[in-house]
Formats: sequence, structure tokens, C-alpha cells
Amino acid sequence: MNFDMPPDDDPRRVAVREWITSNPNPTKKQVAEAGWNVPHWPEPYGLNADPMHQLIIAEEFAAADVGMPLNLIGIGWAAPVIYMYGSDEQREKYLARIFSEEDHWCQLFSEPDSGSDLASLSTRAVRDGDEYVITGSKIWSSGAHDSAYGILLARTDPDVPKHRGISYFIYPMDTPGTTLTPVVDMTTAHSFNQVFFDEARIPASMLVGEEGDGWRLAKATLANERVGLSSGGAIWGQGPTTGDLLDLIRAGGRVNDPIARDRIAQLHVKSEVLRLNQLRTLSAQLAGKTPGPEASIQKIMADELGEEIMTLAKDLQGAAGMLEGSGPAGPLPRTRQHGATEINFARGEESQFPDVDPVWHYGFVFSPALTIGGGTFAIQRNIVAEHVLGLPREPNVEKGLTWSETRGVS
Ligand SMILES: Cc1cc2nc3c(=O)[nH]c(=O)nc-3n(C[C@H](O)[C@H](O)[C@H](O)COP(=O)(O)OP(=O)(O)OC[C@H]3O[C@@H](n4cnc5c(N)ncnc54)[C@H](O)[C@@H]3O)c2cc1C
Repeated sequence: MNFDMPPDDDPRRVAVREWITSNPNPTKKQVAEAGWNVPHWPEPYGLNADPMHQLIIAEEFAAADVGMPLNLIGIGWAAPVIYMYGSDEQREKYLARIFSEEDHWCQLFSEPDSGSDLASLSTRAVRDGDEYVITGSKIWSSGAHDSAYGILLARTDPDVPKHRGISYFIYPMDTPGTTLTPVVDMTTAHSFNQVFFDEARIPASMLVGEEGDGWRLAKATLANERVGLSSGGAIWGQGPTTGDLLDLIRAGGRVNDPIARDRIAQLHVKSEVLRLNQLRTLSAQLAGKTPGPEASIQKIMADELGEEIMTLAKDLQGAAGMLEGSGPAGPLPRTRQHGATEINFARGEESQFPDVDPVWHYGFVFSPALTIGGGTFAIQRNIVAEHVLGLPREPNVEKGLTWSETRGVS
């Protein structure tokens, strides 16, 4: 589980530094064109970088404080599927602009009646000549109001078992017949949307892969997965860590409070277990092996720890914790001042708690989402139970039925 990072004069490090020196303050496009933000990708998009090379690039960019294009859904979800299953035209048109973050992408998967059981989705795509006609609704579509395209799962055949009748589309968000309704969450941020499709017509060329193969595509990831060392931030790897909270508790003189001491000690132990588990995954990847069960348990533990970090930070404020903007006073390291809720930061505005980073308050209000998004806590446990522990699978009451039959649709 131990590994040493290559020394300071490693030629791969030097290459990154030289590039940053000759491209001070690079644009996202420049970073993308040089392949730095997806180094694990094959050329011309990436650098075919092995796991250690990827870690070096990430370290050098962080040390130079140079940001990478983000575009999480575009880079993490849309691009690998388009690359592996898309047409040459689709690759040519979309990939470079995803990597440079010129086009934001959203994910149009969940529906009001289909979340964990995503394969039961009802949004229809009916072929009509050279077009597909889309009717239905998606929900929890993060950033859809700020996206040029969405990856859309829609049902093309209702008369086969539910997983088999789904197709995968690229959906231009400005398609006539598309309506977006903002869904404001309890952080008061508008990051979600409900998207309605009212006989919206997209060209048949927007289909990715074969009709009916959408479920397989939705589950596909690039064989050569990105390797990363998360900062251990409470909000899906971003934001403050247990260590940051401990530092602030220490600085505030609360370490002698037996209850605070006990709770932070418990969080410290959990964080260490998570860190070591992550190093196990990384060691396996560096040794060219596929990570085993440790990868499955990481999300379960990290999500719950994130909630606990944010809850302790709030609880320590006592009654003042009921006020917006409260949290432990004191500066956070710059790279950990942002979490998934930064959209709502009221930086620069007057605050009742000017010494407190707003990530604590918004992180607390956001934190219940951690064990829902990306697969709920219960679904993650089902995966571990069935695929890691080999326990019996959940009974499938829909076995042998078509989607129409499961829905009572004739
Ligand atoms: C921050 C955030 C961002 C999101 N962004 C997007 C996005 O951009 N695009 C998108 O398409 N979706 C997005 N989602 C939606 C997300 O994928 C769904 O919320 C998630 O899949 C759960 O579905 P659901 O909300 O319908 O809950 P349900 O599936 O209805 O679950 C309700 C409860 O039942 C439990 N449950 C369900 N099935 C089982 C089972 N088989 N066994 C045991 N318990 C079960 C669940 O654990 C949960 O407690 C986002 C969600 C969050 C929180």
C-alpha cells in the first residue's frame, strides 16, 4: 500500500512545469488542447498517461494553482460514451468542446417515478422518419439551465423487458418543445431542474450507438479510468476535511470539551480508515490491477462521513447554529473553501458571521444530498451485498415482463 511519488526532477514533472511557465494563466481551451485535463485519455484528447503520470500532472497543476476545466457530466459521463460508441461525426463535433468546457453538459436520466430503479423510465422517443419525437419529463437535472447538451435516456421500445428498450441520445437543450422548471433545493440554490419534453424533435443522428442499447451505454465507463487522490473533502471530495474542522476546533479552544473531543476523535478515525482505503485502491491501480471491493465501500463511507463533518460543525455552534452563515470561525485552506454549494455563496455581501467560511453552512444544508446523489446509501449497500459479499440478489418481481406489462400500459 505504500508508494513514493517520483522526485522533484522527474522529467514528467519538469515537462508540466515548463508548459505552465510558457503558458502562464492558460485558458481552459489551452489546458484541454495540451491534454492535461484528461491525461488518461488516448491521443489526441489526452496523453495516454499511466496512473503515476496522472498523479504527477494533478500535483503539479495544484502546486502551480492552475485550474482544470471541470464539466463533470460532460467529461465523466458523456465523453467516454461518445468516444466508445458514438459516430465519427459525434466525436468530431462534441469531444473537444466538452474537454475545454466550451459546452456544458447535463444528465437527463432520473424521472419523477424513476430514480433508483432508473431502467423503469417512461420518457418516450418515437422514431418518425429522420427524427425522434421525445415526450416525457426528467427531474433533478443538475445544471440543465446552463447546459448546451444533455445525455438523455429514453424508451424506444416499451414491449421488451425494461432494460432492453432504452436508447441513449445527445439532446440539444435548445430543442423546441423543451421547457425547464427550476427546482430550488433547501440550500436555496437553483442547481436542479425539471425538464419537460413536449413532442420535441431531434435528428435521428443524435442517437448514440444502437437503438435499444442505451442501458449498456449508460453503465459504460472508459476502460482506462482516471486515477485520483481525493482531498477527503466532506462534499463529494470537495470542501473542508475532518482535519480542517479539527484545526478550527483546536484554534477555538474546544479540544478540552469532552463531547466535542469525543465526536471529532470518531470522525478522525473514520477519515483515516477512508484515507487508507483510498490508498489501497490507488496502490492497486498503480500496480496495474483493477480495484476490488474497496472501491465499492468508499462512497458509502465518504458520504456518511461528509454528513457527520457538517453536522458536527453546526452542532458546535449551539443555538447560533440555527442562523444562516454560522460555522466554525477561522480561515480554511483556499483549495477547500468550495463545495458543491458554492453556487450560492454570498461572498462579499454582509454576513452575520464574517469570519466564517460559508461552505460550513451551505455544506450542512446540502449534506443530506450526499447519500442520495450518484446512487443512494441503500442502493450502494445492495451493490456491496450482492457483488462483493455474494449475498442473494433482491427478488425480481418483474422478471419476464415487458416494460408495458410492468406499468400496466397496453
Ligand atoms: C445532488 C444531486 C444531484 C443530482 N443530479 C442529477 C442529474 O444531474 N441528473 C439526473 O438524472 N439525476 C440526478 N440526481 C438524481 C439522483 O440520481 C436520484 O435522486 C437517485 O438516483 C435516487 O432516486 P430518487 O430520488 O428517485 O429516490 P428513490 O429511488 O425513489 O428512493 C427513495 C428511497 O427508497 C430507497 N430505495 C429505492 N430502491 C431501493 C432498493 N432496491 N432497496 C432498498 N432501498 C431502496 C432509496 O435508498 C431512498 O431512500 C441528483 C441527485 C442529487 C441528490
